[in-house]
Amino acid sequence: MNIKFVFFLFFILFLIPACEKSIEYDIVILNGRVMDPETNFDAVRNVGIKDGIISIITEKDISGKETIDAKGLVVAPGFIDGHQHCIEPYAYRLMLRDGRTTIMDLEIGAHGPKLNEWYKMREGNSPVNYGAAVAHEFARAEVLDGFTDWKYMYTPDAVNSRRNKDGWSKTRPTLEQGNEILSLIDEGLRQGGIGIGSTVGYMRQGVSTREIFELQKLSGLYGRQIGMHFRNTPGNDVEEVNGIQEMLANAAAIDAPAIACHFNNPGYNMVHELLVKMRDEGYNVWGEIYPYNAGSTALNAVFLEPEVWVKALGNKYEETIQDVETGEFYTEQLRKEILKKEPTRPVIVYKCPEAWVVDWVKLKGVAIGSDGMPMIPDDGLTWDTPYEDFPNTHPRFSGSFAKVLRLARENNIPLMQAVSMTSYNYAKPLGNMGLKSMQVRGRMQEGMVADITIFNPETVTDNSTYAKGTLPSTGIPFVMVNGIIVMKDSEPLKEFSAGQPIRFEPITESKFKPLSLDNWTNEFYAVPEDFGGGVPGSQPNKYVSPTEEPVTP
Ligand SMILES: [Zn+2]
Repeated sequence: MNIKFVFFLFFILFLIPACEKSIEYDIVILNGRVMDPETNFDAVRNVGIKDGIISIITEKDISGKETIDAKGLVVAPGFIDGHQHCIEPYAYRLMLRDGRTTIMDLEIGAHGPKLNEWYKMREGNSPVNYGAAVAHEFARAEVLDGFTDWKYMYTPDAVNSRRNKDGWSKTRPTLEQGNEILSLIDEGLRQGGIGIGSTVGYMRQGVSTREIFELQKLSGLYGRQIGMHFRNTPGNDVEEVNGIQEMLANAAAIDAPAIACHFNNPGYNMVHELLVKMRDEGYNVWGEIYPYNAGSTALNAVFLEPEVWVKALGNKYEETIQDVETGEFYTEQLRKEILKKEPTRPVIVYKCPEAWVVDWVKLKGVAIGSDGMPMIPDDGLTWDTPYEDFPNTHPRFSGSFAKVLRLARENNIPLMQAVSMTSYNYAKPLGNMGLKSMQVRGRMQEGMVADITIFNPETVTDNSTYAKGTLPSTGIPFVMVNGIIVMKDSEPLKEFSAGQPIRFEPITESKFKPLSLDNWTNEFYAVPEDFGGGVPGSQPNKYVSPTEEPVTP
């Protein structure tokens, strides 16, 4: 026998296994069903974690300082929630119980100039990864309402800024104000914000199509996405300008990424078809849903005004608008009364048949965004607050991810489809636009970051309901973030150093060029009087002060 071949055999038979055996991993996960949505890998394997990285996925025996027995359990990429408005310590235990390893607010986002501060506050303070987009709404609130009362610098401040003022929602900025808005957002992008978040559905009359176009051009200059609560959902009987097409047409023209936030609404089929067709053409656009037939918002949302909700959309308050706290349904009269006392009071809004929820979980390429809202009141809520003591909230807060897995089981939807929805479908498009931290997450592959969620496919379930929205999910015994075990035997651990920021590298040079009258067209911002009025069909150039009756869209 050739001596080289003998050595080769020796190497294969003894040295390689000896090497593997000799490595002691930090953590090993043994005999679990490893599922990777990117490669469709689905087999029982052992997983070795070292220095926060998935070092090996193997059939061979491996050992580590710590061992998790995952027999009968699925070992999946950690769940990624791209739409969580409550990124606060009191939310983290419920997030872990639902398998979430990354939570980001890509819809409202954080205030541009305060983005660094926002990330700093969470450093060493979170067992889950965290991130935020730059907020369109807050830039408008600062410029058009003079709102500067920043306590949180992200969603919880919206509750505040929306309470007494509505310039952010209803005012068309002047060219100068428009430039200020864009430059505040630009500052956040330079500080590393994950694209732009726009709640334009809440400011459907204040924001011109031109403003949206400029906003998308700005995010496009940075190669980042815009996430939009787009205005005017399709699928209603009334003909209205369709916000999803507004966003996607811009995305195509500029070739800038975009997210259709929570499109679990009437018209979802069309939104999905648009997204699929555009992705087939190579555009980086995607959508997210949360698996509930009701939404949740503040009572004073513009689309709940009688002219829209009742007259245009044909809903009845008595059947569709429920108080989160009391469970009582609103009447038009009750709504008027409560609006005077507590305009931003949270309500549940029933808008779709329950049967649609299963359809949404079947949609290919769609991600999950829970749209969890900060709890109100949040005073005194901490990591240690018992689940039962939280104020009630929409069940999507606590149960969105486990519910997708349960619905997949109950409706014979392939488990890989559900696993992909809960992780990869957000990681992939964000990674594609250059967000490095998302290129190494959402996958169960060697070399990837060890964000891992381990669940029992037979029992995993949500437990939260509309009446009790803060009951934790069950059937998810282990969660790991950056190679640190943050939940063990279904008990969340105080591993506050585990979570990492998800953001772009800050850059110093701005890419934004203020618009001048030279490239100004009269459909852009408010039409100056000396231009002799507006264009046909344009919205009034009028500041609506908080004391005035709101102008109906
Ligand atoms: Zn929204």
